[in-house]
Amino acid sequence: RRTITRLPEWLKTPIPAGNENYKKIKQDLRGLNLHTVCEEARCPNISECWGGSNKNAATATIMLMGDTCTRGCRFCSVKTNRAPPPLDPHEPEHVAEALARWGLGYVVLTSVNRDDLADGGAHHFAETIRKIKAKKPSLLVEALTSDFYGDLDMAQVVAESGLDVYAHNVETVEALTPYVRDRRATFRRSLQVLERAKASGGGVITKTSIMLGLGEQEHELMDALKALRSSGVDVVTFGQYMRPTKRHLKVEKYVTPEEFEMWRQRALDMGFMYVASGPLVRSSYKAGEAFIENVLR
Ligand code: SF4
Ligand code: SF4
Repeated sequence: RRTITRLPEWLKTPIPAGNENYKKIKQDLRGLNLHTVCEEARCPNISECWGGSNKNAATATIMLMGDTCTRGCRFCSVKTNRAPPPLDPHEPEHVAEALARWGLGYVVLTSVNRDDLADGGAHHFAETIRKIKAKKPSLLVEALTSDFYGDLDMAQVVAESGLDVYAHNVETVEALTPYVRDRRATFRRSLQVLERAKASGGGVITKTSIMLGLGEQEHELMDALKALRSSGVDVVTFGQYMRPTKRHLKVEKYVTPEEFEMWRQRALDMGFMYVASGPLVRSSYKAGEAFIENVLR
């Protein structure tokens, strides 16, 4: 197979300077002791997410439960260890305090996988959400969780914690899952997590994300979307897979902006509530704006 080394034009984006809202949010972040995925992963969408025209829609992603994952997916550059350090019991309180002071409208809480913990970190997640909502009820909260190794009761614990959106990423089509994700993750298990979140008493919007360019076939992607709809998933996002280092899976294809648009349209036609699709889209891309426009209106 040929190795693709050159980036297509549409992925070479200059970093935009950012408007006043972006600058304010960036400034406010100093001293809060919050670590955002947006800054740490040098996400190209940061000025759009933090500085959109609607201040109430400003979105950022925070990582909970440390920086060390118990799994090793072949697309991901997060460091891996079977025994990460214990959880910080003060994290829920600290994160809630800092978020209440920061000028965001929508926060995505995500985490590494913590298969070392009996509950996978579900109660820690839920406690963080409850504390955020107690301090700043207007802040919209999305949790992007692991599959809790199939313990669906733990997905329910998070889904009923008062959050607005429950996200869990299938990442790719079923056939590629064993090659792309850690072997402990399966497509079916991910569907079950999303189903349980939807069926729980929280009344949440459910959401998933798929990376394109890993070698998925068109019919496989259609099947994945059908399965997600059957599981009651409300929102889907598509983005280009980018190889973090040479030790990670290579990019099989750079999907064109036109194809992303086609998938956006197809997903909407299948009944998804809203869809973000584009080469640089990440699962949290302008999530606040999308939620406000499609759910709150
Ligand atoms: Fe942050 Fe996600 Fe937006 Fe990137 S896409 S800036 S990680 S919220
Ligand atoms: Fe990365 Fe998540 Fe996979 Fe851990 S479970 S290696 S954080 S993608």
